[in-house]
Amino acid sequence: MTNSVASMTDVSPFTLPNVRGRYAFAFDLSKVTWFKVGGAAEVLFKPKDVEDLITFIKDKDPTVPVTMLGAGSNVLVRDGGIKGVVIKLGSGFSEIAFNGNEVIAGGACLDRTFVLACAEKGLSGIEFLVGVPGTIGGAVAMNAGAYGGEVKDFINWVEIVGVDGVLTRLHAADLSMQYRKGNLPKGAIIVRASFMLRSDDPEAIHTRINTHLQQREDTQPVRGRTGGSTFKNPANMAAWKLVDQAGCRGLMMGDAQVSQKHCNFLLNLDAAKAADLEQLGEHVRQTVKDTTGVELEWEIIRLGDL
Ligand SMILES: Cc1cc2nc3c(=O)[nH]c(=O)nc-3n(C[C@H](O)[C@H](O)[C@H](O)COP(=O)(O)OP(=O)(O)OC[C@H]3O[C@@H](n4cnc5c(N)ncnc54)[C@H](O)[C@@H]3O)c2cc1C
Repeated sequence: MTNSVASMTDVSPFTLPNVRGRYAFAFDLSKVTWFKVGGAAEVLFKPKDVEDLITFIKDKDPTVPVTMLGAGSNVLVRDGGIKGVVIKLGSGFSEIAFNGNEVIAGGACLDRTFVLACAEKGLSGIEFLVGVPGTIGGAVAMNAGAYGGEVKDFINWVEIVGVDGVLTRLHAADLSMQYRKGNLPKGAIIVRASFMLRSDDPEAIHTRINTHLQQREDTQPVRGRTGGSTFKNPANMAAWKLVDQAGCRGLMMGDAQVSQKHCNFLLNLDAAKAADLEQLGEHVRQTVKDTTGVELEWEIIRLGDL
């Protein structure tokens, strides 16, 4: 986050605690989301470290809403922006520590960085995360998965800061993570996560990583302005097949398009608004329901005001 606030106000609309991290006001969230759409956060807060985050949560006005943002790769921020404070963890939450087969990563650590660091140490299991363009916090919150693997299969514990500002460690047995749902306590901010991995030959791990990256390159618009899979896969069905069957591949609404390459991905071709993308998604959902009888559920998290 820069403090290039020329187009922003420099006054908070509400009282904020004294912190060591940084605030930005009327911060344009299209700059920090993969779709490159959406309005502004009234306040964006980047805490310096866990203690700073705790201070903020404990001292803030309890009526001010808080929204967590990771790398913004699974969210659609609406055009009216987000009221209250959006928190984005920064470099103070990016560390990776190794302890035998246990790996502890900060909530802001990028999935790819994490997987490659594990590969260097000959630690395997989470290679499937290499092409997921989010953070460890987002991966745990969403129970990210791909190619048959899911975060929940490797989680040892998660440290969260709760809405009361208390730092708590939740062990795997306390979590009931489900398909694309971390199921953490409401409002919990994931600051660190511990994974238990298995040992393997680094070369074999790198081969799997390269295979996954190539698979993505071949089948997904990985360089597009997208939010990844738009809809969850219904039980024993692939969402993309239903979208295809309903004739929605390539469908457009303004500059929003159902990807030709992977029709469970929506794309902002250039100047789409969040409303174009959401309306296109809703149109696809309705068309799939009308043609197949299946009601698709959004996987993308829609945030903020219309
Ligand atoms: C090209 C592309 C490919 C993708 N492929 C996959 C895939 O194969 N598998 C898959 O599962 N997903 C995939 N995704 C979706 C997305 O990358 C994942 O869901 C990722 O885990 C989201 O992480 P993020 O940091 O971007 O979170 P965001 O998108 O910023 O946030 C997602 C949700 O997590 C919450 N959150 C984020 N960080 C924290 C935190 N520290 N504490 C508490 N809550 C938090 C947010 O509040 C929000 O509800 C893909 C996306 C793209 C753009």
